Amino acid sequence: MPLQIILGTQWGDEGKGRVVDLFSSRAELVARYNGGDNAGHTVTVGEQTFKLHLIPSGIVHPHTLGILGGGMVVNPLTFFAELDSLRTFDVAAGPERLKISHAAHLITPAHKALDAAQEASRGSDKIGTTGRGIGPAYTDKASRQGLRAGDLLDEAAFLEKLHAHIRAANRVLDRLFQAPVLDVERVSAEYASAALRLRPFLADTGLLVHRALAEGRTVLAEGAQGTLLDLDLGTYPFVTSSATTSGGVFSGLGLGARPVEAVIGVTKAFQTRVGSGPFPTELDGEMAERLRGTGSNPWDEFGTTTGRPRRVGWLDLVLLRYAARVNGLTGLVITKLDVLSGLPELRLCYAYQRGGERWEELPYGPADLDGYAAEYEDLPGWSEDLTGIRRWAELPAAALRYLERIEAAVGVPVRMVSVGPERSQIVER
Ligand code: GDP
Repeated sequence: MPLQIILGTQWGDEGKGRVVDLFSSRAELVARYNGGDNAGHTVTVGEQTFKLHLIPSGIVHPHTLGILGGGMVVNPLTFFAELDSLRTFDVAAGPERLKISHAAHLITPAHKALDAAQEASRGSDKIGTTGRGIGPAYTDKASRQGLRAGDLLDEAAFLEKLHAHIRAANRVLDRLFQAPVLDVERVSAEYASAALRLRPFLADTGLLVHRALAEGRTVLAEGAQGTLLDLDLGTYPFVTSSATTSGGVFSGLGLGARPVEAVIGVTKAFQTRVGSGPFPTELDGEMAERLRGTGSNPWDEFGTTTGRPRRVGWLDLVLLRYAARVNGLTGLVITKLDVLSGLPELRLCYAYQRGGERWEELPYGPADLDGYAAEYEDLPGWSEDLTGIRRWAELPAAALRYLERIEAAVGVPVRMVSVGPERSQIVER
């Protein structure tokens, strides 16, 4: 019963899309278990680049069945926009290839309006949300007033709930945030016409996945965001509203832990972060500019939706060790190793210093990172261009040493590295 889990070990943007793409070529079901259209997976196949925010990125392989699990929040408008864009690339994806859990929650225009109003009211304490209504949709879920995909099956009851939901949001927008309210009739009518089109996609996805596993078919669970953005285990409050870690797979898909075969942690060869929050290995100045890139390459470190420069720094092995522990990682995939070529010296953060003491583990978890200074080990860099390398033995000695140091510090084997964005630019060990 092989269940493979692929997830990010940092603050997202690790390059999960391309790793999922590789693993899903060998899987039969590809499933998202958390989050919504706040993810951004990029898969480059030859000349074509697919950007998927909501639909599992493994769907670009025509033999797969895609699952949107009950742990997700689904914006119907994004869902259909992505189906259309897949069609322009000749990827057919109708209800026979995509299944949405009855238990997934729906994101509405009211959630988006609340997201914007809340973030604006935070002033200089912004969380840096993507503004897609994810947080408010999960808030409604937790306070048991959410709209679930299964509600669509009774149209009249759904319309009633939708009206009540938008009216309730209007009261908050108006009284709490002094923000413009939504036109209940117009917004409900427009939204319902898109949302009701989801009905043919609805299924008991937990049962579907369970049966597939029982028949020995491979299921790939595709994480969105990264470990340090997990609502419970991340750098709270600078986190997303869902369970990004391996634990989220079980509740988010409706499964038990028994079928797990592998938990693969996708890790960028350096550290990046979008938005606010602590970042002990953060760099500024020339080195930061070098790691970030100018924005001229598609993979340079600028936000996909906002274009904002990402914060960058050296790889933090204290945080990676933590990610290995909380996810139960069985293997690592290190991405963007090519970006480090040409740097004379590389640094790895092994431990932190605070209050005259050395800390190899976080005493109070990643939510309490303030005041910890990174302690580094310096390693020689390499000058070779890695983008053409396809065999492990061809990697420069200094690159191998960098990978070995990561492995030794984290206690998890590096299974492969990527050396460019294209599908073929991966080196398996
Ligand atoms: P995700 O959010 O973790 O899925 O990250 P993405 O899949 O969006 O990847 C971020 C960017 O890095 C995309 O533009 C990818 O094409 C690019 N990328 C992924 N792996 C590599 C790599 O090994 N080298 C380079 N140069 N770019 C990569």
